Amino acid sequence: MKKHKSSKAMLRKARRNYRAMQSKTAHLVQLSWQSPLAKPTIAIHEAREAHSAPAIFIYKSEFDYLSRCILDYLSEETGGQLYGFYTEKGEYVIVYAIGPGPQANHQITFFNQDKEYLLKVNHVMLKHGLQKIGEWHSHHQLGLNRPSGHDVNSVVSVMRKYQINSHLLCIGNIDHKGRSTENAFTFSKDNDYCTQHAAWKVIDMDSPYRPLIDNDPELAGVLRHPRTQNARHGQNFLVEDNVAKPDFQDGYWLKNKENRLVLKQIVDYLTDLGYTCSVNLDSNGIVHLVVQRSGEGMEIVFGKNFPHEAPLISFPDGSDMIPEWEYNGSIYDSFVRCYNKFAFAINNYNNMYNF
Ligand SMILES: [Zn+2]
Repeated sequence: MKKHKSSKAMLRKARRNYRAMQSKTAHLVQLSWQSPLAKPTIAIHEAREAHSAPAIFIYKSEFDYLSRCILDYLSEETGGQLYGFYTEKGEYVIVYAIGPGPQANHQITFFNQDKEYLLKVNHVMLKHGLQKIGEWHSHHQLGLNRPSGHDVNSVVSVMRKYQINSHLLCIGNIDHKGRSTENAFTFSKDNDYCTQHAAWKVIDMDSPYRPLIDNDPELAGVLRHPRTQNARHGQNFLVEDNVAKPDFQDGYWLKNKENRLVLKQIVDYLTDLGYTCSVNLDSNGIVHLVVQRSGEGMEIVFGKNFPHEAPLISFPDGSDMIPEWEYNGSIYDSFVRCYNKFAFAINNYNNMYNF
């Protein structure tokens, strides 16, 4: 999907019907179930709602830091520690993460942190009022995105031995697209040491502790940082913010829970094509799916009469168009066919011009 000017030439441009319901200047409210990251995880939230997974707060800088550390080791385990504190309700707040020290032992199926490194870092963390609240290690591409039996046994025996009431273990993985995934598990004495898969609540800002500790003179020349410069996140289990849960109008397609899963499927489909997607709700209660790839972007606007009427494609320059849309009873199938026709038309047009 390249230049939208060509799309205008190729496809029928129509604005009338949608202008009424879509206000370009409408304040876009981020949906609660929108991930602050690239990929919303609506379906997962829906599926897990009933189990009320615990939430782990983490600053975006640290979430990204973990991703970078995981991506440093493609076929060996790596790991580190998580520092922060607990909220009044006992929720974990991760404000600073570390990766492996220089003497850490990285093997295919196990990882041991550099003890000397850990002692030095712990000392400085305590000075800043932070405690070690958990650990992480990567199962890289081993295909196990949760703690192994051995992991569980070690955590529980340490908890019992030192009378620790709760502990957090995060398991990293690398997916088939070379992106990291981070899965957090809590262990609690009150819960008979059972592991619980926790949902991330990513605080969309850099941790204020990151520069503070990175620049602490006691750690000068000590701290090791990942070689990988940019985080690449795959599918993570993110918490939904119940406060701003969207209340769709009666009759709107997303009022229906199954259709919300369909929207998730559509997001997955576009993500697999290399788009980053975010779901926004405008002040008229209309969902805009904002998709971007290689610096180009568009919004897919699902109007009041969707799926009986086509979605509107809206471009950053303010122009918009209605793609060829045939609703066959399955929203997902209809969407994929519509998208393919759209992409095919654009490609043809570009090829025509290239030769
Ligand atoms: Zn493990």
